[in-house]
Amino acid sequence: MSTDIPKLFGTSGIRGEYQKEVTPELALDVARALAKYIGGEGKKVVIGRDTRTTGKIFENIMSAGLQECGCDVLLLGMVPTPTVGYATLKKGADAGIMITASHNPSKYNGIKLWNADGLAYKQEQERIIEKMVFEEDFDKKSWDKLGKEYDISSFKDEYIDAIIEVSKIDSEKPLKVVVDCASGAGSKLSPEALRRAGMNVITLNAQPDGFFPGRNPEPNSANLQELMKTVKVIGADIGLAHDGDADRMIAVDEKGRLSDFDKLLTIMAKEFGGTVVTTVDASACLDTQMKKIGGQVLRTPVGDVHVAESINENNATFGGEPSGTWLHPDFCMCPDGLLSGLRIVKCVQDNGPLSEQLDAIESYPTIREKITCPNNKKEEVMKIVEEKFTDEFDDINEILSIDGVRVSFNDDSWVLIRPSGTEPYVRITAEAKTEENLNRIGEISRNFLENII
Ligand code: MG
Repeated sequence: MSTDIPKLFGTSGIRGEYQKEVTPELALDVARALAKYIGGEGKKVVIGRDTRTTGKIFENIMSAGLQECGCDVLLLGMVPTPTVGYATLKKGADAGIMITASHNPSKYNGIKLWNADGLAYKQEQERIIEKMVFEEDFDKKSWDKLGKEYDISSFKDEYIDAIIEVSKIDSEKPLKVVVDCASGAGSKLSPEALRRAGMNVITLNAQPDGFFPGRNPEPNSANLQELMKTVKVIGADIGLAHDGDADRMIAVDEKGRLSDFDKLLTIMAKEFGGTVVTTVDASACLDTQMKKIGGQVLRTPVGDVHVAESINENNATFGGEPSGTWLHPDFCMCPDGLLSGLRIVKCVQDNGPLSEQLDAIESYPTIREKITCPNNKKEEVMKIVEEKFTDEFDDINEILSIDGVRVSFNDDSWVLIRPSGTEPYVRITAEAKTEENLNRIGEISRNFLENII
């Protein structure tokens, strides 16, 4: 395929500022291309959107583009991303569209596509859609062959019932749960799911609002101060927070501390056991804990679609990224922040206070550094890293070159050299059991990179 076709899709679908990178005209053409790609006439496409002010415009225009090309459209309305994934699967649709810019600020929006089996579009599929958009390769139908639009907003109830059931949360053990929805797509459904599951729920930022007036939709420490305070002050058992489209979840323990993302992932992974999947940048605390219970950890490039593919290929029980994006293969292959929330509450019901569970997991010192490297030199630099970097060490356990180069050592310490996708840097991430060892690995890596750049 020719390389001069402009790239529309990034690591998580099409994303950008409204009327800059992401326009209604582009959305129309993506819908037309998608319609042809899935087979046109008689095919079904589910559409959902988050709370952004521009969401309805994109929903309207994409629905029109699909109907124009013969597809029927099933409208969910304002829903979390996982509801789109699950509806696509359950309704036997041929594709799903989520209109969202996830954790980005209000003026952004984006488009993420889903396969019939609830799996996000892979890069190869995105390249095909890009080419079709670029070449205006559409198949518009005559007046008598147009698709129709159907309202399936009542499907939300079915989705909530399904996540409650699969979570096995105990409604006879009500916990006090504070949930902060960022005024995003989880605003209605996440508190409702917890309430229907019998929990005593207090909400923060649970009024849908595309201006995100309460907090920025990125669930990080700076944005979750109010949640942390609230959990502590009212004596809640746990706090939960979502990003703008609620495919992610991060928890606050009963002491009001934001949990370490890697430790939270580890707690959940331990519940599943067996083979779990995570990305190259996740902490080795997961490996250490999984080894203790006879499980194993597989690693993929960064991005939830890679995690999903690996889960399928390896029959894994669970997968997640340290960002709080968790996949539950016993339910659906779309990352689900609402189900993640129910499941971490169930963990507290079963295993006691979250603070104790988190504290029981050893954590190790880490470094995250970036070395300046011009974008046009990155490829050459990474080639040398692949060929020569491992010569610097003699206690290597495993080398992974799937996304940057990740070298792990016999004592579970590791280092990852990975070029930044957008900025002129090469990043060093390392973790070791002692400061001394960490400094040694850091220094070797830094010197190596500085010498070759
Ligand atoms: Mg998201």
